Amino acid sequence: MWTVEEGIARLREGGAKITSQRIAILRLLKGRTDHPSADQIYGELRQDFPTISYATIYSTAQLLADSGLLQILSIDDKRVHFDPNPQPHGHFRCQACGALTDFPIADNVLHSIRDGAPEGAHSVQIFLYGLCDTCRQENEKESLSPLLTEMECVEV
Ligand SMILES: [Zn+2]
Ligand SMILES: [Zn+2]
Repeated sequence: MWTVEEGIARLREGGAKITSQRIAILRLLKGRTDHPSADQIYGELRQDFPTISYATIYSTAQLLADSGLLQILSIDDKRVHFDPNPQPHGHFRCQACGALTDFPIADNVLHSIRDGAPEGAHSVQIFLYGLCDTCRQENEKESLSPLLTEMECVEV
């Protein structure tokens, strides 16, 4: 995982002016595993940087992505999510609560994807959809309750 200093160096290489807002975005993204969206970043920074704009967030993210420090995940058509872990890995999206979590992809799987891909392919995104553990348990609780009521009726 990269440091804020490395992030600043890459932004500078990309020709970006290093501002306190860009540094704050780097600090916020660095080491995060919850894949924040631009809305989330905007919300978290707005208090300290009332003039921050979505344009600054997106352009900073794009520069980081171009220099290989960040993945921009377009998992749904409403928003993108930022992932400061540039190593290939899969993402699991909970369709109930929206949580986006990482899962590992074995090297041989990645190799076989690359083998079959056009030569110009430069990135891979693998998404799985379903229910996260928390939501699955919630679901089970809910689907159990009508059953319990039925059994209570039988006992009476
Ligand atoms: Zn969930
Ligand atoms: Zn991730």
